[in-house]
Amino acid sequence: MVDNPAAVLQVRGLTVRYGSVRAVHGLNLDVSAGEVLGVIGANGAGKSSLVNAIAGATRSSSGSIALNSRDITKAPVTERVRAGIAVSPEGRGILAGMTVEENLRLGAYSVRRRDRNVLGGRLAEAFAIFPVLGERRSQMAQTLSGGEAAMLSVARALMSGPCLLLLDEPSLGLAPIMRQRLFERIAVLKRTGLAMVIVEQRAAELLEVSDRLLQMRRGESAGIGRAAEMDAESLARLYFGAAAAPGPSAPS
Ligand code: ATP
Repeated sequence: MVDNPAAVLQVRGLTVRYGSVRAVHGLNLDVSAGEVLGVIGANGAGKSSLVNAIAGATRSSSGSIALNSRDITKAPVTERVRAGIAVSPEGRGILAGMTVEENLRLGAYSVRRRDRNVLGGRLAEAFAIFPVLGERRSQMAQTLSGGEAAMLSVARALMSGPCLLLLDEPSLGLAPIMRQRLFERIAVLKRTGLAMVIVEQRAAELLEVSDRLLQMRRGESAGIGRAAEMDAESLARLYFGAAAAPGPSAPS
């Protein structure tokens, strides 16, 4: 199956079904270290199903998923976390009744208790990337602003020390200024060499941080192209969901 050993993530022929509903169909994609793949598409296009299948939260019906050339198609979530996959899920999944720091420590559950230095180092890294979380470390998560909560969700995912970060609609519900701030932080993260898959329904900021954009339509790839090569016309097609595909359609 593995024909691109340089890819951190390699997905081949992925299909996800819920009973008779086919949410993802025959999807192929590769993501390399330091690369951001943006995934866009209308409601119900299959974006979350793709993310959940990679994370192991949803079972894939057929196809294969490999992380650093290792087949993880059938691996349970915990094994995928240990292998280096982390997710900030749709809805953020932070625990409102816990503090910022407690949420972050939960994200590091895969770090063994005796590895205190690792845990301390990860907390320091999270606060370096998201300084506002350092300022709010003792504050209950339920008192955070929407933008801070979005940052906490991403930071918590980082606590497991991933090589692949999956973000499902990280900027959902944020005002434009907060969306911009969040994506500024994501750009900082990208420079650390993380591979990222970021799902957004629509966001100009996604284009700025992405190396490539995958457009999903009815569970399939409607095109995958270099973000830098997208002109206003192809972007408009992406946003407004016209039938034409953006850019080249090869899965690179
Ligand atoms: P959104 O932007 O609204 O979150 P999406 O692109 O993430 O949409 P999915 O949530 O992956 O799309 O849904 C893809 C299809 O699968 C939709 O038709 C949806 O109704 C269906 N679906 C998703 N989850 C389930 C489920 N647990 N059971 C049955 N059908 C589901």
